[in-house]
Amino acid sequence: MINSFPITYQEILRLVNQVDMKDYARTRNYLDGGVSHLSPYLSRGVLTLPQVKNKLLERVKLEDAIPFLYELTWREYFQRTWWKYQDGIFSNLTGNAARTQRKGLIRNIVGANTGITIIDEQINQLYKIGYIHNHARMYIASLASNIGQSDWQLPSQWMYYHLLDGDVASNTLSWQWVAGTFSLKKYFFNQENINKFSQSLQQGTFLDIAYEKLPGLELPPVLDELISSEFITVFPSRQPLKLDPSLPLLLYNSYNLDPTWKKQIDANRVLLLEPSHFVKFPVSEKVMNFIIELSTNIDNIQVFVGEVNDIPTLERFESILSKPHPSSRHYPGEKDEPQWMFANIEPKASFTAFWKLCEHSLIRK
Ligand SMILES: Cc1cc2nc3c(=O)[nH]c(=O)nc-3n(C[C@H](O)[C@H](O)[C@H](O)COP(=O)(O)OP(=O)(O)OC[C@H]3O[C@@H](n4cnc5c(N)ncnc54)[C@H](O)[C@@H]3O)c2cc1C
Repeated sequence: MINSFPITYQEILRLVNQVDMKDYARTRNYLDGGVSHLSPYLSRGVLTLPQVKNKLLERVKLEDAIPFLYELTWREYFQRTWWKYQDGIFSNLTGNAARTQRKGLIRNIVGANTGITIIDEQINQLYKIGYIHNHARMYIASLASNIGQSDWQLPSQWMYYHLLDGDVASNTLSWQWVAGTFSLKKYFFNQENINKFSQSLQQGTFLDIAYEKLPGLELPPVLDELISSEFITVFPSRQPLKLDPSLPLLLYNSYNLDPTWKKQIDANRVLLLEPSHFVKFPVSEKVMNFIIELSTNIDNIQVFVGEVNDIPTLERFESILSKPHPSSRHYPGEKDEPQWMFANIEPKASFTAFWKLCEHSLIRK
């Protein structure tokens, strides 16, 4: 189990080279399985999907890399779904809504007090290190939406707020997938499943029942109480920028912290923290610190807290450049081409259909 996430680019690249594909394929679904822990770097744009894919294929055979490439493709699929539907991803994507749509956070989920030992441990880990395993995220989302009968919107914001890898597309669409509003059916799990994938032995909980009984399960009293919550982003103190308008202005943000991007050119480099973005998608102090620490891999970066149009002397720059992203479409200047693994394949309505085409294109090469 990882306790902290490295910051330097060298260490991050080492993580990419460390993933053991055979172990990954065998153990990925276990809470202590051999997963890569690359999501904070992919989400923050320190690494790109094609970069990770290419690095992987330099050292392992395609057939061994397929299970990992399959997961990377989920990320690409979610990102491209966000581009396609824009703000539409923040509403139910299918008519398949929950049994009830209680509005609020379940007190005993956010308080790590559900009585399901492994889930409570995982929630505490989320607060402590800002990362939990995919299976734990699925358990928590299902507990909140499908067993706790609450709308996915607020709990997904709560989880996003605490995740170092917080990514609006992966997070929102995964919550929708679990809640059955972006999939054909809701995701359920029982105590036996948790025990298997966490190698634990808890019994006698409200989840210690057969799968068939889960969809009709009455709201467990421990999940009854709802609370409201406000998520607040704390910004670093504002420092004056030193800019040279005769050089290009490169805009970075919490989703683009790639230290290799246009590294060779002489430019002003600004990490833009727009309050309007973080009002919509708030992050915890731990996440904000992580973003700022990751930005130190970028030469001469300066942090600017403010809206893009408030950057001093903005109108004097001949060249303003940024990477394309759904959350920064309003930036002035030129945008690069998006960096996809499967740029020539259009995302389909279902992930499976998209993956089939992607896999085919890999094998054909
Ligand atoms: C409710 C819920 C919320 C989630 N929220 C986020 C989020 O905010 N940010 C985020 O990056 N991921 C999110 N995920 C997806 C997934 O849980 C994480 O990407 C994964 O756990 C990251 O750990 P890893 O890098 O060790 O994954 P690995 O298993 O090593 O996978 C390698 C990479 O593939 C991608 N990937 C793997 N599984 C998924 C998946 N199910 N969906 C999309 N991409 C995947 C990630 O980029 C990951 O880094 C969420 C999943 C669920 C069920």
